[in-house]
Amino acid sequence: MITINENFLKLQDSYLFSNIAGRVAAFQENNPQKNIIKLGIGDVTRPLPPACIAALHKAVDEMAGDATFKGYGPEQGYEFLRQAIADNDFRARGIEVSADEIFISDGAKCDTGNIQELFTTDIKVAIPDPVYPVYLDTNVMAGRTGDYVDGRYQGIYYLESIKENNFIPDLPNKDVDLIYLCFPNNPTGSTISREGLKKWVDYAVESKALILFDAAYEAFIRDKTLPKSIYEIPGAREVAIEFRSFSKNAGFTGTRCAFTVVPKECRGFDSKGKIHYLHALWNRRHCTKFNGVSYPIQRAAAAVYSEEGKTQTKELTDYYLKNAAIIKKEITALGFSSGGGDNAPYIWIDGQGRDSWDFFDMLLKQAGVVCTPGSGFGKCGQGYIRLSAFNSLENVEEAMNRIKTTL
Ligand SMILES: *Cc1c(COP(=O)(O)O)cnc(C)c1O
Repeated sequence: MITINENFLKLQDSYLFSNIAGRVAAFQENNPQKNIIKLGIGDVTRPLPPACIAALHKAVDEMAGDATFKGYGPEQGYEFLRQAIADNDFRARGIEVSADEIFISDGAKCDTGNIQELFTTDIKVAIPDPVYPVYLDTNVMAGRTGDYVDGRYQGIYYLESIKENNFIPDLPNKDVDLIYLCFPNNPTGSTISREGLKKWVDYAVESKALILFDAAYEAFIRDKTLPKSIYEIPGAREVAIEFRSFSKNAGFTGTRCAFTVVPKECRGFDSKGKIHYLHALWNRRHCTKFNGVSYPIQRAAAAVYSEEGKTQTKELTDYYLKNAAIIKKEITALGFSSGGGDNAPYIWIDGQGRDSWDFFDMLLKQAGVVCTPGSGFGKCGQGYIRLSAFNSLENVEEAMNRIKTTL
């Protein structure tokens, strides 16, 4: 008899974005003439930077030549890309990360989802609420939770991100072993200061915990006082793994390229309390289950670090940040309080007592604007919606005009 992993049965049936897609499709069917503006899903809308396209074309041509064809590459990624990342994203900023601590992959979603395989099922996991759903669902699948009761999985320590703490969770009041953090945050758009992040690193050192730091949106940070990498904090190399992606800075959501940083000192413990280094474990896992990102895509990603690439990706994030500023300004003028939008492409809007899905339906039906209901990201998201800056300037302006009329 083939028995199933019953942990899958604990998962909540509808993935947030398929639920949204269903409601949008139903509305569009009944209102075929309506031009719906999507400020919902966190997907970029602008094309790849020309520098990346040029590199991609060139690499495709290489695949057509006897002398330049490439078969399987190194599972961890080509040296040219790992070195470019280490030099530009870290060393140029005075952060110690070497090329062989960087693992290239086809997505930070997969990496943040897969990383938990390195740990036992009996660890105590702390996950933000609201949250990018991947962290939670992959721990459910792995059997680290009990059932879903009253909007929460039993056994998970929820790090509440609410207005009262400026959407930056407080340290846990009991011991946890694995901590997920994401800054700039999806969905709240909140950022964390150096001092704030230092508290988490110190906590992890003291309690022998590990931090999984999702920095997918670091390219949106303009405030120079904010940390772009957790490794800017002393001691973080022992206690943190960082996830980054080319999806949001360079528009690779459909192209697929990301990377995970596992410093050599980053440690875990066996059941006897003996130290083991996670670099070796992740390397083993990655090489066993993953066969590398395609060569042309890695060439395209490396072009992000060329002079033109740097200018062009900065232009991309500037463009979205301008949209974010417009959304933030208009929503504030309408009397709503919100988080994010300054160093992040998301604006997290307090619905002033409205239920998240009611607010979503109202904006869809009356303004023809798609947002993301905050409750879809967790219990603490109830009463909020997320607006995304990923759209054209024209659409953002039009959407905000319609919202003004509606509200
Ligand atoms: C978009 C996003 C990512 C990036 O995922 P990819 O798989 O690299 O496209 C990672 N984390 C968060 C929180 C995100 O919103």
